Amino acid sequence: CGVFGVVGVQDAANFVALGLHALQHRGQEAGGIVSHDPAEGFNSVRRFGYVRDNFTSQDVMATVPGPLAIGHVRYSTAGSKGQTAIRDVQPFFGEFAMGGAAIAHNGNITNANALRRELIERGSIFQSSSDSECIIHLMARSMGRSIPDRMEEALRKVEGAFSVVAMTRTKLIGVRDPLGVRPLVLGKIGDGYALSSETCALDIIGAEFIREIKPGEMVVINDEGVQSHFPFRPQPSKFCIFEHVYFSRPDSILGGRSVYETREAIGRELAKENPVDADLVCPVPDSGTPAAIGYSLESGIPYAMGIIRNQYMGRTFIEPTEQIRNMGVRLKLNVNRALIEGKRVILVDDSVVRGTTSRKIKEMILDAGAKEVHFRIASPPTAWPCFYGVDTPDRDKLLAASMSEEQMAEHLAVDSLKFISLDGLYRAVGQFQGRDKACPQYCDACFSGEYPVTPSDMIDRGFEM
Ligand code: 5GP
Ligand code: SF4
Ligand code: MG
Repeated sequence: CGVFGVVGVQDAANFVALGLHALQHRGQEAGGIVSHDPAEGFNSVRRFGYVRDNFTSQDVMATVPGPLAIGHVRYSTAGSKGQTAIRDVQPFFGEFAMGGAAIAHNGNITNANALRRELIERGSIFQSSSDSECIIHLMARSMGRSIPDRMEEALRKVEGAFSVVAMTRTKLIGVRDPLGVRPLVLGKIGDGYALSSETCALDIIGAEFIREIKPGEMVVINDEGVQSHFPFRPQPSKFCIFEHVYFSRPDSILGGRSVYETREAIGRELAKENPVDADLVCPVPDSGTPAAIGYSLESGIPYAMGIIRNQYMGRTFIEPTEQIRNMGVRLKLNVNRALIEGKRVILVDDSVVRGTTSRKIKEMILDAGAKEVHFRIASPPTAWPCFYGVDTPDRDKLLAASMSEEQMAEHLAVDSLKFISLDGLYRAVGQFQGRDKACPQYCDACFSGEYPVTPSDMIDRGFEM
């Protein structure tokens, strides 16, 4: 998901809509905006579909006036299978003794089932099936005297990944979980401030990127400025390494470096680890493009756009059903036959999950007359599901859960298939010594099976680590 908030500007919701549009790659199912205006109070609008189709008309935007607003773009993950209902669309709103508050959450709460059960037993009435709603109910039960105090208390009971943007009548609040699994950044716009999942959304509104919110940090922003504190027990940070590989936009800055540069470095590392004699390096667009450029630069094999992407299609992976995803590959990608015919082609993609994309693309490339097909993947084999906010399927659907690299190559019937090593990936993201086995510098659970937060709900349901 993507979260965004602005305080201290006129018609804040317009900026939020722009910000959400820039974060659309983080969630395409639905979006919502809540605003506050001193005269009109709180208002909200929540819709299915793209930001550009929902939050551009004057009529709609006029319903969310005021100098303070937050928003969310949704992508449903582990806890919430099936079709999204409008009541699951964030931000969520709660009315407390000291006034209202709205929250937008990116991540996944790994003890949400247990919390929900407990809260329901004690009388909470849930409106949605979303794990994030627990935060509102925990806040309602808190005895804290201010909304930030209540939020703090609520979030101390929550396990898992959360980057939260919240608002009261007068304050914009940002919090990152103690491991800092999902990103969150702070920007300055005019006399006001913005909080965003990624810096690309600050760019679109002309805000200046100030800094990342730190793991475990809470910032409370009002007219007087930004107050920061650290309400959680400090822990070694575990930022999601897959944000570098796939999730974030290439024009965002993560850890002081553009995601594009990191992906290019991943491609170079991939070429060093897994060279092969071939005529062309082609990306599987768009997610494989920077890594393919890196692979080409390192290997000296020419880069070519052997596959063309239809720009009017969204991210295939985010389509909820298998059938749509299967179709999706052809709707989205087409082979540039003229370039491919008679060539030995290296295809670079960011990841292999179920293998749907790679299988289809191989067929298309061979149909177009390629002589050889070599897959090079910019992440290690995805052998474990993510429980922290990226929607990987159940373990039995992951190709790498039951097959070795060689078996996958055979299964996909390609001339070769190679993945970057976990150490190689760490080097490429800037950890030049590689992965610290005793205390990995990132979350890499989907590759290593080492979960930095015990996914207790999933274990209750029988998941074996
Ligand atoms: P597959 O087709 O193997 O199931 O999925 C791999 C493709 O899904 C890659 O091209 C990758 O770009 C894309 N993808 C989109 N979203 C995700 C995600 O959340 N996780 C992973 N691992 N891959 C994703
Ligand atoms: Fe990121 Fe993978 Fe960890 Fe999920 S399991 S947070 S996708 S590194
Ligand atoms: Mg892709």
